[in-house]
Amino acid sequence: MILIVDDIPENIYSLKKVLQLNNFEVDTALSGEEALKKILKSTYFLIILDVQMPGMDGFEVADAISGSNKTKNIPIIFLSAANTDKRFITKGYASGAVDYITKPVDVDILLLKVKTFYKLYENTVELTQTQASLREEIEFRKLAENKKDEFISMASHELKTPLTSVKGYVHLIKKTVSKYEDTTINGYLTRTGLQLEKLNNLVTDLLDISKIETGKIEFNKHLFDFDKMIDEAIELVQHTQNFKIVKNGLTEINFHGDETRIEQVLINYLTNAIKYSPDSNEVHVNVSLKTENAVYVSVKDFGIGIPTEFQPKIFEKFYRVEASSARFQGLGIGLFICAEIIKRHDGSYGVISEFGKGSEFYFTLPIVN
Ligand code: ADP
Repeated sequence: MILIVDDIPENIYSLKKVLQLNNFEVDTALSGEEALKKILKSTYFLIILDVQMPGMDGFEVADAISGSNKTKNIPIIFLSAANTDKRFITKGYASGAVDYITKPVDVDILLLKVKTFYKLYENTVELTQTQASLREEIEFRKLAENKKDEFISMASHELKTPLTSVKGYVHLIKKTVSKYEDTTINGYLTRTGLQLEKLNNLVTDLLDISKIETGKIEFNKHLFDFDKMIDEAIELVQHTQNFKIVKNGLTEINFHGDETRIEQVLINYLTNAIKYSPDSNEVHVNVSLKTENAVYVSVKDFGIGIPTEFQPKIFEKFYRVEASSARFQGLGIGLFICAEIIKRHDGSYGVISEFGKGSEFYFTLPIVN
């Protein structure tokens, strides 16, 4: 709706008729004071405001409008005498759109201006609606995300208990059966144990994810022999995989950090290196003191490699390189957890890789005195 403010009823009458003939809804006020009351109650997309009125003049009305959040963006067309200086017209009304028309009013020009303001108003309404629906969508998605995180957390907790007892029972059966030296049954039990270990690692990773999400991941930092930790991680992986793991370098330091978590990073790098190298059977682990202040560990494989454009994304949660995701099992959370562990030790991580030739995953950790 348009509000026309003029103290002369005849002026109002003719303007009102023209606008109504052009399908605009019109409201009127005969003084600045009446106009302000109406503006607070109703919604106008445009105010046509006479400058010279007894009592409050047009500028004072505009000043008052610009002072309120609800009204400050309503555009104003001032109706002024031909000799009014433009500087006065824009004075005090910086935030809203302002225009002016000299008297006697040229109806065609007025209509042109009114239509432009109406178009602007329509665009603003549309933008506001789009903004509101986008906000709604974001809220909804967050709520989806939250439910998913809650589910992962609940499911992994629930899975962990029966899994631990199944592992215990398989261990007992294996111990009992081993007496009979039945190689078939022993073989089956060994394979069951390996599959259970994989399942256990998956559930543990899921639990870690929910701990990271909820900020509950805890780090138990203490001094430990860094080279021994590296050797133990290699031994553990070597134990289950038929792969040659070549280690180069030593740090010869005691490191202050969470030994189990740092070992977890190395094991993850190693198992990935093996998993993503279907046509190779060798992995290199390089360990060194990068400077006096940091240790450097890398795991180099000769596997499928990662195309350059995907390399920055692989440490993100649930990210898997699509081209190879069907060929290799996984959830895309291992590297995300590694990144979190390294970050929490103020270290850095990354990958150097050539598609089709292999990858070298590395991390550095600052040595804290
Ligand atoms: P997952 O292996 O379960 O998918 P990760 O978080 O460990 O999850 O790895 C994320 C993705 O990074 C993998 O899906 C794979 O595309 C890529 N990737 C990780 N390690 C290697 C590697 N050594 N060689 C090639 N691609 C790798």
